[in-house]
Amino acid sequence: MSAAPSPEPGRDCPLCPRLHGFIAAWREREPSWFNAPVPTFLPPEGENSVKLLIVGLAPGLRGANRTGRPFTGDYAGDLLYGTMIKHGLARGEFKARPDDGLELVGAAITNAVRCVPPENKPVGAEISTCRTFLKPTIARFPNLRAILTLGSIAHQSTVRALGGRVAALPFRHGGRQEAGGVTLFSSYHCSRYNTNTGVLTEEMFVNVFSEIAAFLKS
Ligand code: URA
Repeated sequence: MSAAPSPEPGRDCPLCPRLHGFIAAWREREPSWFNAPVPTFLPPEGENSVKLLIVGLAPGLRGANRTGRPFTGDYAGDLLYGTMIKHGLARGEFKARPDDGLELVGAAITNAVRCVPPENKPVGAEISTCRTFLKPTIARFPNLRAILTLGSIAHQSTVRALGGRVAALPFRHGGRQEAGGVTLFSSYHCSRYNTNTGVLTEEMFVNVFSEIAAFLKS
């Protein structure tokens, strides 16, 4: 009998040679940084408490790749964690450090690609290879009801991980679709680029979370 696939890559995961090499170079340059696949951020109440999984794109170089926690250390986290606290999906204070004591409530956060990609751009092969970890990550939460994908790459990879067809379940900001037994919500990514250019406003992002919070209470 073969072992169940692991939801977390090992620290030296070699599956994507380009990303492996990029991380190796940053280990030399910044030895105090995390510089490894960033693990899923879980709530202290454990896997059974998770009803919402948030799927981001990939660790930011000076954000999650430096700190080791998704969305921690770059702008995207300010908006994401601030909005989660407002909706009761996180508690404490977000101080952009993995030891800030912030706790998730009924939610977990992961990335479609676990290793930092050069220029924030994973290539197609890296996105599909990293689904090796996204699929068991989705499967590890027995009480999961909703997934929120941030941006079209996370959305498409999640649709595929759920066994759906991207053409049938296209990305749309504010989208809500049924896929693989869960409700899939989608939002533009909360990156500084998207908020600076007005693609995503704080109000648009908060509205997505209000809909998810109402759905989780129903
Ligand atoms: N940090 C992450 O962990 N994921 C993103 O998608 C962006 C920043």
